Amino acid sequence: MSAHLMNTYARLPIALQHGRGVWVWDADGRRYLDALAGIAVNTVGHAHPRLVSALHDQAGKLIHTSNLYRIPLQEQLAERLCAISGADAAFFCNSGLEANEAAIKLARLHGHQRGVARPRIIVFDEAFHGRSLATLSATGNPKVQKGFEPLVEGFVRLPLNDADALHAARSEPDVVAVFVEAIQGEGGIRPAHAEYLRLLRRTCDAQGWLLMIDEVQCGTGRTGKWFAHQWADVRPDVVAMAKGLASGVPIGALLGYGAAAEVFGPGQHGTTFGGNPLACRAALETLAIIDDEGLLDNARRVGGWMLEQLRAQLGALPGVVDVRGAGLMLGIELDRPCGALVAQALDAGLLINVTHERVVRLLPPLILRQEEAEELLAKLVPLIQRFVAVGAA
Ligand SMILES: *Cc1c(COP(=O)(O)O)cnc(C)c1O
Repeated sequence: MSAHLMNTYARLPIALQHGRGVWVWDADGRRYLDALAGIAVNTVGHAHPRLVSALHDQAGKLIHTSNLYRIPLQEQLAERLCAISGADAAFFCNSGLEANEAAIKLARLHGHQRGVARPRIIVFDEAFHGRSLATLSATGNPKVQKGFEPLVEGFVRLPLNDADALHAARSEPDVVAVFVEAIQGEGGIRPAHAEYLRLLRRTCDAQGWLLMIDEVQCGTGRTGKWFAHQWADVRPDVVAMAKGLASGVPIGALLGYGAAAEVFGPGQHGTTFGGNPLACRAALETLAIIDDEGLLDNARRVGGWMLEQLRAQLGALPGVVDVRGAGLMLGIELDRPCGALVAQALDAGLLINVTHERVVRLLPPLILRQEEAEELLAKLVPLIQRFVAVGAA
């Protein structure tokens, strides 16, 4: 470990050197099945030949120009994202928190345009929206916030999936928007129920609030539809994307629907790198590969099979609280902290993650094939069986 890196991560003791598909190899030549995809980032796996050649080609033409000029690849990507989302316009940035920061600014500006001088946004327990000051303030995890007070004001926090709490919140003054993850990722793969998302839509309509959905983790096809909220058939006003959008090249996007697409004017938001030609090319190629290789269908089919198997093999064990998720975004909640499973999985040649202390999280590349899913479960299931059996003594 380098003494010259700031100590922000408790890193695992391996360094990955190259990859192919769902497999990665470390410096000692050991092979791992990647069931995490760099936290829902490597959508089309590692070293996908089409992505590699698109990046190679684009790097030889133009990497960056700034937003002072037209960027045709950015215009194409915006058009493509609007086509799959039903949105009307996009803003590009470089990460999830940046997309969410843009959403928060958009909501505040929308409030000011309607004469609300101190606009507030409804957010949720256990939410994760990022680590900038505004997004960590919107986050519902005290560990993310501790030490960084004073927090940014203007957030009203509710429990997720609680219709009564939402009903009561209608009398909160100065609310202008609701900001919700369609499926909470860092919060433990906890979905906003379809019925609850529809209730949010109706409430936002009745109150004149914007419905803003954080799809940074659950978007880009992860659940087997382009966006997780599409399972509930709701039309948002704002959607934030990032993580898997360009399969590893940093990019974020904010999508606006209807009037929400016209809130920002020139000079009101911006970024130097955002939507540069290289990142947009990578995103366009990622979306084309998802289409051409039928990866939405694959995520639904292989993920659905995995969920079924995990429930059958683990669901009834004492120590296993719940097995849940959608597509290739799966969580196994245990009754105890299980961070130790990450190192055990590493020894077994498997990359996984534990979030919210007790939830084993699987976010494999969307190219995961049936045989690879079988190998994944053959590695993972015995580890969890042993883990809960030992702890139960
Ligand atoms: C990861 C994540 C973020 C933050 O994204 P960064 O790219 O790390 O800034 C925001 N929201 C959700 C739902 C996430 O999963």
